[in-house]
Amino acid sequence: MEKIKMTTPLVEMDGDEMTRILWQMIKEELLLPFVELNTEYYDLGLKHRDETDDQVTVDAAMATKKYKVAVKCATITPNASRVEEYGLKEMWKSPNGTIRAMLDGTVFRAPILVKGIDPYVKTWKKPIIMARHAYGDVYKASELRIPGPGTCELVFTGDDGTVTREKIHRFEGAGIVQGMHNLDGSIVSFARSCFSYGLETGMDVWFAAKDTISKKYDHHFKDIFQEIYEKEYKAAFEERGLTYFYTLIDDAVARVVKSEGGYIWACKNYDGDVMSDLVATAFGSLAMMTSVLVSPEGYFEYEAAHGTVQRHYYQHLEGKETSTNSMATLFAWTGALGKRGELDKNKELTAFARTLERAAVKTIEEGKMTKDLAMITTIPHPVTLSSRGFILEIRKTLEEML
Ligand code: NAP
Ligand code: MG
Repeated sequence: MEKIKMTTPLVEMDGDEMTRILWQMIKEELLLPFVELNTEYYDLGLKHRDETDDQVTVDAAMATKKYKVAVKCATITPNASRVEEYGLKEMWKSPNGTIRAMLDGTVFRAPILVKGIDPYVKTWKKPIIMARHAYGDVYKASELRIPGPGTCELVFTGDDGTVTREKIHRFEGAGIVQGMHNLDGSIVSFARSCFSYGLETGMDVWFAAKDTISKKYDHHFKDIFQEIYEKEYKAAFEERGLTYFYTLIDDAVARVVKSEGGYIWACKNYDGDVMSDLVATAFGSLAMMTSVLVSPEGYFEYEAAHGTVQRHYYQHLEGKETSTNSMATLFAWTGALGKRGELDKNKELTAFARTLERAAVKTIEEGKMTKDLAMITTIPHPVTLSSRGFILEIRKTLEEML
């Protein structure tokens, strides 16, 4: 078979630990033999981030703006012990945070559904895609410990000198207080990303907040979603037979559990943090969850939802055989290649990406999988494979399918 050509490069962001090992195996066994891979390579491995004073992360985000499609390997977000482990100059910020801030997007997380890896929720037949707003609220809050009696107020001083005050509470004793914010611009782009992704995937959009209690804050989210929907998306949604649905967050939780799936669930930052872990786990495994950052300008950055799988990496370093699941990392590649093909009208490339996805799913459905899945599958007598062994089995399936 002649290798598939790529007209435009893809931004490739390499990463850390076990996922960096999987990255190399996926390229060697599943991509390079079939595609003339055209990537602009950025090494976001922690050592190189440190050497470049994290400039490489900024450069990679800039390249994503240029080429519109990126694939990212999981990376270490340094903490104190990592600073020591890698002898870092600084405790560099989370690369995902840096990239997100530059591309201003929404993170969509979708499970990879496989027969034999059943969701814990019996009614779920189709994927539920989580859309998490990635700016503000409790993640950018200011907090105060109130030592004793006194009055706490919200004070806004406009640049024109006007002052607006709102009493929070008259404290008779010690307590705590928190102030948080969000921005119209960020909420608008969150809403647009969700509706655009709905159109792109042909899925309904649900959004939930607590507007009955938070009559100004959460209500503002609800109003912005409604306004953007009606002005910019309603016609296209109706034409495609899709719907937008707002409900209270507690009602949404109850409905999600009883639903059969097949929609995008847009959540405010905190709700998205909590609910996406719940949904990911309930679908079977964190290693079967993909993630894509979609910016309102139409940039796409694909990655796995899990981290660098540190525990397995240390086993690997000790020379022990690992059984790390490469599905989410592989689907980050196929997501990016498929999108590259779509934007470049390169049908062959998109078709290859979809075939590789089917080959990976088929391999598991035939009972060949890594340990994390073998422990939970309903398939009788599954064969537990090593990290490389699983990738080699996918290659066999792929070659049969091509
Ligand atoms: P992790 O990489 O998500 O792994 C946590 C545990 O989940 C693993 O020990 C393993 O469980 C299981 N697991 C996750 N992915 C798996 C896979 N593909 N196959 C099999 N099992 C898998 O989290 P972590 O080890 O706590 O974090 C390591 C590093 O990742 C941290 O430095 C963190 O900063 C970084 N991180 C990066 C991102 C990102 O780049 N997007 C996201 C999250 C975390 P068992 O040990 O039970 O086998
Ligand atoms: Mg979380």
